[in-house]
Amino acid sequence: MALTTLEESLDLDGRLVFLRVDANVPLDNGAITDDGRIRAFLPTLKWLTERGASVVIASHLGRPQGPEDHHLSAAPVAARTSELAGFPVPLIPGVTGDVVWSALEEMKPGEAVFLENLRFDARETSKEDSARLELAMEWASHVDACVVDGFGVVHRKQASVYELPRITPSYAGFLVEKEVDVLEQLTSRPERPYTVVLGGSKVSDKLGVIEALLPTVDRLIIGGGMVFTVLAAQGHAVGKSLLEKDHIEIVRGFLDLASKLGVEIVLPTDIVMADSFSPDASHVTLPIDQLEHGPQGADALGLDIGEESSKTFQEAIEGSQTVFWNGPMGVFEFEAFSKGTRAVAEALTTVKGLSVVGGGDSAAAVRALGFADNQFGHISTGGGASLEFLEGKHLPGLEILGWQPPVAP
Ligand code: ADP
Ligand code: MG
Repeated sequence: MALTTLEESLDLDGRLVFLRVDANVPLDNGAITDDGRIRAFLPTLKWLTERGASVVIASHLGRPQGPEDHHLSAAPVAARTSELAGFPVPLIPGVTGDVVWSALEEMKPGEAVFLENLRFDARETSKEDSARLELAMEWASHVDACVVDGFGVVHRKQASVYELPRITPSYAGFLVEKEVDVLEQLTSRPERPYTVVLGGSKVSDKLGVIEALLPTVDRLIIGGGMVFTVLAAQGHAVGKSLLEKDHIEIVRGFLDLASKLGVEIVLPTDIVMADSFSPDASHVTLPIDQLEHGPQGADALGLDIGEESSKTFQEAIEGSQTVFWNGPMGVFEFEAFSKGTRAVAEALTTVKGLSVVGGGDSAAAVRALGFADNQFGHISTGGGASLEFLEGKHLPGLEILGWQPPVAP
């Protein structure tokens, strides 16, 4: 079954709509450092207000301990939404209760307000089904419909994402619709060759996605911190680089499976080995069979892929029709170790077919390195949610909107 989406025929004039978004933006001393997640839901907000709906926008922000966590108030998010939307979006200082209900009563068609950080109410993320349902029922008795446009939270059973849509007429917003459409192209009908690039810090975070992807991809490129567990599985010494010893056996199993399935595994041939984990660490590029042969010997740690590897990765990516990339190739936060990540990002921008960047740090990396969103086919707003989608897991926030994962043939 497909997602229930927003249709032209919906009569929203004068209706009160609860719009659940993911405006969990990075904050630095109360200032928003990247407003990408706010921009992402604006088309849905505008569509609703233009049709005469009164819109109650709701999001979580960080992990507050309660309403006394003032620094996690949604106030800056409401202010930025208002600036970007071009009309006032006042903050209502509450999640439920009289302060909220009386503000809703005063709303006119086409107006919008922002609720306080949903996690100020512990029932939003409660493990008790009954607590989440109780909160959802309070909202449901005051709104006419619910629109979910926070893709980053659809893998979670939370009051505003799962229980409220269960008991209210509910629809997927345009962002959720687009994310699902793009990710479905990856799971069900990727144009070939289909290449997946994986990096980031932990191989253990990505085991599920590797297992799910091996039967569908043509080529798997591995870099980042997770590559050292793969190199160790092949018998290479990796010095003090990130290594998950407990996972070497599982990785070996995946390498065997890949060769049985005819999946080409592309690994780095050289690594930038540093003397410490710091932006100004001295470093040297070494071939993968000599990683402990630099000046630091076995004390060196690998912080990026080398130049030769970057070239190989770029060629493999450029020859692909479909590319999904998750996880930086090195410690991109340090300029000196960002070259591999930059090389991969550049290659993705040349892909003629579909290129998708998924993962919180990966999306932050391409923006921090100066790439524009429109240089890629799609930058997923949901890190965990996009990986769980590709793994074929149950996503409660999508299933409650009518979506079902495709059944394997
Ligand atoms: P995403 O959020 O996109 O899924 P991850 O959270 O898995 O990505 O990984 C991102 C982190 O991986 C970054 O903070 C980066 O510094 C780190 N990283 C990448 N390569 C290495 C490496 N060689 N050693 C240590 N950390 C690394
Ligand atoms: Mg991350």
